[in-house]
Amino acid sequence: MNQEENTNPIPFKQDSKTYQKNINREFQESATLKRAQSFDIPYINLSKTPLNPDFFKIIELETARSGRIIPFLKQSQKVLVAVEDPQHQNTIHAIDGLHKRGFEVIVHLASTASIDEALSTYDRQKKYYAPKIIEQVETESIKTYENEIKDLKSIPEKLATTTQEEGLNLIDIAAMKTGASDIHYEPQEKDTIVRFRIDGVLHEVFRISHKIYGLISSQIKYSSKMKLNINNVPQDGRYTFVFNKIKIAVRVSAIPTPYGESFVCRYLSSDRKALTFEELGFIGLQLSKLQAVTKISRGMVLVTGPTGSGKSTTLYSLLNIMKSTENKVITLEDPVEYYIDQVTQSQIDENDGYTFLSGLRSILRQDPDIIMLGEIRDLPTADTALQAALTGHVLLSTLHTNSAVETLPRLINMGIKSFMLAPAMHTVIGQRLVRKVCQFCSTKISTPSEVKEEYDKMNQSLKAINPTLAFETPAEIPQAHGCEKCSHTGYSGRLVVAEVLVISEKIRRLIMEGAGSIDIITVARQEGMTTMREDGYRKVAIGMTTLEEVHRVTNITI
Ligand SMILES: [Zn+2]
Repeated sequence: MNQEENTNPIPFKQDSKTYQKNINREFQESATLKRAQSFDIPYINLSKTPLNPDFFKIIELETARSGRIIPFLKQSQKVLVAVEDPQHQNTIHAIDGLHKRGFEVIVHLASTASIDEALSTYDRQKKYYAPKIIEQVETESIKTYENEIKDLKSIPEKLATTTQEEGLNLIDIAAMKTGASDIHYEPQEKDTIVRFRIDGVLHEVFRISHKIYGLISSQIKYSSKMKLNINNVPQDGRYTFVFNKIKIAVRVSAIPTPYGESFVCRYLSSDRKALTFEELGFIGLQLSKLQAVTKISRGMVLVTGPTGSGKSTTLYSLLNIMKSTENKVITLEDPVEYYIDQVTQSQIDENDGYTFLSGLRSILRQDPDIIMLGEIRDLPTADTALQAALTGHVLLSTLHTNSAVETLPRLINMGIKSFMLAPAMHTVIGQRLVRKVCQFCSTKISTPSEVKEEYDKMNQSLKAINPTLAFETPAEIPQAHGCEKCSHTGYSGRLVVAEVLVISEKIRRLIMEGAGSIDIITVARQEGMTTMREDGYRKVAIGMTTLEEVHRVTNITI
């Protein structure tokens, strides 16, 4: 607005209220339009503009009333406001307030009637725009949502009619209903893809327009206490809500992309219980080897695999069985994923210098019997951990390696001395997670001949090593489909495919001699170890998962 060019504007303060009350609305609007033109600012008729109550949150009702100012559209940090008198002190004050919060404000002129009307809408909608956290959402409205999201594809439609807060609630509940562990929001050129990670696999669930995504993303940032006016650097935050009486924490990470910020929301349930080995999917000889591990009183137990292979879940299950009133269990985690009774859990904070290494040194002074170390990342930590395992502690940890057997040479390569490693190591578990085939919709197909051949070959080699390990080649194998019960994925829940390497005296000697993976695996197999792939094939044969799943996860190398 350039006032010098408008030398003779129609004054605003001309008792305009009384004047306008006496003329009809149409006349009022055209007068306002003229005034706007003379001031060279855009005009808006609010009676023709749908007002989203979410925008009301941008300006508090009191400020809106005193400043006669209505926010009617928001596009990321740009907010369009309607005002009755841009020169009124309260209006200027309200606009200043928006500038200070990092908004770009585009002022529109509106009639007195427009502003009055919008203010009364504001009032009526109070219950929607009043700050509301999901903890306060009544069970009934959650029930309604539950029915509404039976079909996830209808979410975008629903989002068009909800406030942004309700919109995020709706998505959170959809995540809970489908058992999703993460939601990924990925803005593209034309729209935003929303993908759910269910049982470890990403599914595109729906797409939303940029307009709706703008609302949802600002609600995510608001809820997780991120800086609203910053969208060009990565940010982290978290928020919580309650679903079915369980507190759910959501860890949010935002990164800038050319089409807007991309969010990944991870859902962490405080109610996660440690699962039994059977529930995790350990069977047969591997199950009994794991049960034996829970009885040890010293030595190192490592769970290995890539990120997302369920390593910490297995560790939690071990801890849950090993803890007792007679022993002291301390953990060092990053972060603490869920809480276990009778266990002292400590969360590392790299920024504050509380690392796995410094933490491990400290907790060793706390007289622990069992230590769980979230991850071994470097040589000094590996060294200290092995030292602890050699001096009468049980040390449980994880390592990023492809297979159980590969772990030993890997530690040697890191710089661990074999004379330390050999006596300290007790058991190495290599694992992956496969999805369980949905029991409601899966069918059986007769085993294709090439698959039969693979099974036969596998069984021959197993028989040659140890006849008790062989299993029958299945005549039929499961095939996944999809139904309501499994959110149309064909799968429901997950289980491990694993290999358990117990360090025998023979293997200890091999380590001391600096033997490679092949020598170690040969002896391990003679002693009854089966590989992840063999474990997977066995689980397909007994109908727990599909061959596609086993191939998918056992082909991952890190
Ligand atoms: Zn199903």
